[in-house]
Amino acid sequence: TISSPVPDALTPENVLKNVFGYDEFREGQGDVIHHVCHGGDALVLLPTGGGKSMCYQIPALIRAGTGIVVSPLISLMQDQVEQLKALGVKAAYLNSTLSQEDQASISEQMVSNQLDLLYVSPERLLQFGFQQTLRTTEVALFAIDEAHCVSHWGHDFRHDYRALGQIKARFPDIPVIGLTATADIATQSDILTQLQLNDPLVYKGSFDRPNIRYRVMSKYKAFEQVVTYVKQQEGSGIIYCNSRAKVDDLHAKLFKQGFRCAAYHAGMDADERELVQRQFLNDKIDIVVATVAFGMGINKSNVRYVVHHDVPRSVESYYQETGRAGRDGLESEAMLLFDEKDAARVRQWIEQGEQADRNAIELQKFAAMEAFSEAQTCRRQVLLNYFSQFSDSACGNCDICLDPPTMIDGLVISQKVLSCILRLSQQASTQYLIDVLRGKQLKRLQEAGHHQLSTYGIGKDKSDSYWHNMINQLIHKGLIRVDITANAALRLTEAARPVLKGEVAVQLAVPRLEFKPDKKAKQA
Ligand code: ADP
Ligand code: ZN
Repeated sequence: TISSPVPDALTPENVLKNVFGYDEFREGQGDVIHHVCHGGDALVLLPTGGGKSMCYQIPALIRAGTGIVVSPLISLMQDQVEQLKALGVKAAYLNSTLSQEDQASISEQMVSNQLDLLYVSPERLLQFGFQQTLRTTEVALFAIDEAHCVSHWGHDFRHDYRALGQIKARFPDIPVIGLTATADIATQSDILTQLQLNDPLVYKGSFDRPNIRYRVMSKYKAFEQVVTYVKQQEGSGIIYCNSRAKVDDLHAKLFKQGFRCAAYHAGMDADERELVQRQFLNDKIDIVVATVAFGMGINKSNVRYVVHHDVPRSVESYYQETGRAGRDGLESEAMLLFDEKDAARVRQWIEQGEQADRNAIELQKFAAMEAFSEAQTCRRQVLLNYFSQFSDSACGNCDICLDPPTMIDGLVISQKVLSCILRLSQQASTQYLIDVLRGKQLKRLQEAGHHQLSTYGIGKDKSDSYWHNMINQLIHKGLIRVDITANAALRLTEAARPVLKGEVAVQLAVPRLEFKPDKKAKQA
């Protein structure tokens, strides 16, 4: 058998063809590969499935020595190594799942230059013993996969990654290439700084995922909304919640309703989590209800939808999580349930953080997420603009494009809401306010005497969801503020006064996403 699949003329093009069986580079790959082959550093930003691996695998095959690949997940390493071995590439991984003997044997192969590629975890790379071995090894390059983990500003900072900045100092002549699918401008420049890349080639691919349709719905009865939504979907989906407790709760409720679902979060033991992953991958279950712990390394291409039950803390997280839908290129959907109260709570958490400078950045990042959620213009444009990929045309495949909001004169509607808040002494929560507006016959209203208010029942003709939506718009316009220190009581702001007096005009969008239980919904 042929020991090396690489033919004599070691050009990137030949390796692409002879080892991987592809005829052409994808956009960006050729430039990055040539640059790294010649010893340069690089940072590659390409969406998931964009072909990042090739950017270091080919230079590792071409350059003398072993390419060291730092990867955060053991399962990812194993998959990659198996695929490479199947192509005839001499690849291995080194991690704690291997026996001492196997680890020793792999180190031996590395030192005697028998490996093209070696995958290691960040903590392994920095271990004293491994560093010693590296000194006697010819290293072709260092590739840092999921490079955003090195940045505090990214959405998935990992302590083990921070120390990777030492690589460049220790091995100044070896090319270092960072790769990530998600990094905004702040994170990108932080990666460059942290990894101490030397005059790097930065390649940014398109972040657009045209087959994902973005939708945002205002959240008011989350469980019913999720059930209705999921019943209307075909195929597999992921529902993200922002806490383990919510995951367990939502999962239990969905399970009770007969959905084929499982929960996934970091509080479960490894075996359980592994089982969920496998069942999901093999379509034994349709839905995974999860925290952000679920995702990285999940190689399921036919995820048809991703629901965010709670608003994520940054556009980067949102993009990364929604990006798990539709890797097969088929039509998929990302649905976010947005609630101003959730947002206010997130802001409060961030503000309570211990490092003031960090809080400021996180607040900015979250503000961008809120802006996305509240946008009345093409969602994709907002999303891509956030990653500095400006596009001047609307996408035609998001809720706003598909069903543009109709604007109406909202003065009277606003006045109804604002005056009712006043009558309730600015103590009422959103739901309470709606109950009064709609004149509901509830004991608690009667006990409080609120059925006698002049605003009781003035909003009878509209649904709960209608009022939720309108109230949210008034919050977004800055006329109402949610006071989360007082049970999410609604307060008026200064800007509400001229509206109450009828001195200014208020434009409101007709609510687009009314909650309509689908009578013909499929059996769960
Ligand atoms: P990423 O790491 O960016 O998520 P991968 O490196 O796993 O993406 O590549 C995704 C898929 O695209 C893989 O199946 C890979 O073999 C394929 N691929 C990469 N480069 C090319 C190319 N130049 N031509 C055809 N297919 C490619
Ligand atoms: Zn659009």
